[in-house]
Amino acid sequence: MVDRVFIQLGMVNVRNLVGGRLVDPASGAWLDVIEPATGRPLARVPDSSALDADAAVRCARDAFPAWSLLPAAERARLMNNLAGIVERRLDEFASAESDDTGKPITIARSIDLPRSIANLRHFAGAVLHWSSESHDSDGGGVPGAVRSINYTLRRPRGVAVCISPWNLPLYLLTWKIAPALATGNTVVTKPSEVTPITAHMLAEASIEAGFPPGVLNVIHGAGAGCGAALVEHPDIAAVTFTGSTTVGRWIGRSCGQSLKRVSLELGGKNPFLIFDDAELDGPEGAIATAARAAFSNQGQICLCGSRLLIHAGVYDRVAEGVARAAGALVPGDPRDPETRFGAITSTGHLAKITAAVDRARVLGGRILAGGRVPPPDSLPERCRGGAFHQATVIEGLDPSCEVEQEEIFGPVVTLQRFSDESEALRLANGTAYGLAATVFTRDGTRAHRVSAALDAGIVWVNGWMNRDLRTPFGGVKSSGVGREGGVEALRFFTEPKNVCVRT
Ligand code: NAD
Repeated sequence: MVDRVFIQLGMVNVRNLVGGRLVDPASGAWLDVIEPATGRPLARVPDSSALDADAAVRCARDAFPAWSLLPAAERARLMNNLAGIVERRLDEFASAESDDTGKPITIARSIDLPRSIANLRHFAGAVLHWSSESHDSDGGGVPGAVRSINYTLRRPRGVAVCISPWNLPLYLLTWKIAPALATGNTVVTKPSEVTPITAHMLAEASIEAGFPPGVLNVIHGAGAGCGAALVEHPDIAAVTFTGSTTVGRWIGRSCGQSLKRVSLELGGKNPFLIFDDAELDGPEGAIATAARAAFSNQGQICLCGSRLLIHAGVYDRVAEGVARAAGALVPGDPRDPETRFGAITSTGHLAKITAAVDRARVLGGRILAGGRVPPPDSLPERCRGGAFHQATVIEGLDPSCEVEQEEIFGPVVTLQRFSDESEALRLANGTAYGLAATVFTRDGTRAHRVSAALDAGIVWVNGWMNRDLRTPFGGVKSSGVGREGGVEALRFFTEPKNVCVRT
């Protein structure tokens, strides 16, 4: 009945997936999901409680023995089924992702959905091609030592909790659940309450794909409620979290206390370095790439290059080029296939962005482009109640000020000038974060030297955001603990056990 009323209103009724069934929250509490491009309600989502979290963990715990003993090829088959369903319904998933986040539909269709499908297929395949280690021991010449062979068994840990943020909802959720499921863990996942719709669609699709009840459970709601209850639940073995550094610190503390395995992918304030010998022009040149790195997904990607560091000799040219590129990004209706620059995902987050830009002005920053919420009459009629911000370029700030030091996570890039390599590195490494960095230079030796010296888990040279799912992914300093991607993720979700056999 409720479903029917919601459908009539054009709204989605998001529900929890617990033990293979879509259910309302025991709490009876719900949150509104707002379409960021219009400000109108789009869905309602359970605001689950600790009781809902507990029910999901119990189901996952009960499903674990059978799932973990299933041949890996059978687990992979079900994951490929799921990928196939998402692929068949790609347009539907992409529209939901675009409406829910405010990202342009073209981006949801060409990036978020293909990557979500690739995540499922990648780990379904990876687990079949993984090998365990063995060590043939000759005793090391120690008197009395015997020969032996050691081999490493890798067993799934148990119930894994996967918590994801709102910026790339299905992309990051599948990035976490895919290796967890492939290695034989059962999962309780908690998507962001801000953008829950594609996770709900994935939950429905997992039933259709034939996953045994309880293998994948999805609990929706506020982080401090059901999210914290999942992290603190005594029957879970591991937590993988992508989100803010503040919440990550709390999760790290909680898991440390209970000795759960934890992986934390947190915030960034990523430097983008342009040396004076770099190729500046053209679609793959430093200027166009810097603008793409700053403003893709309206700057709401943890890997965005939000601090542009420019060699003095090319500063003016780069600053002018990036400001021009920012000015060309006109905020538009995410549903329009021509739109390249969409909405900010929530009004709360928009307020954080405008506060940071206002602070930059107070601190003496010069705004070279953007700097404002666009006037409503500049937006398509449907979007006049939406949350938008212009692509913004700021120069002239002190590198130690809060705008240069704290993550904004919006379409705002700051510029700094450097005179030599050591100053570039000092600026690049001069924040608490260390997720990603980009270097543009034609000098291969310098590219290698600078990459090695940067405080970052990921460095791109003469490009940005080229991702290979087999490579390690994660940050240093306040950007996180641990690595995801490829074998790193398979390791995280399994417990190694050495078996030593005397030969
Ligand atoms: P957030 O930390 O507010 O929330 C992330 C998720 O954690 C949400 O699902 C939220 O409900 C949940 N949560 C909040 N409090 C919790 C608690 N006490 N216990 C358990 N769960 C809790 O982050 P956000 O605003 O959704 O996302 C933006 C942040 O994510 C940015 O800082 C961005 O840099 C970061 N991010 C990092 C990466 C990466 O790979 N390093 C990728 C994307 C986003």
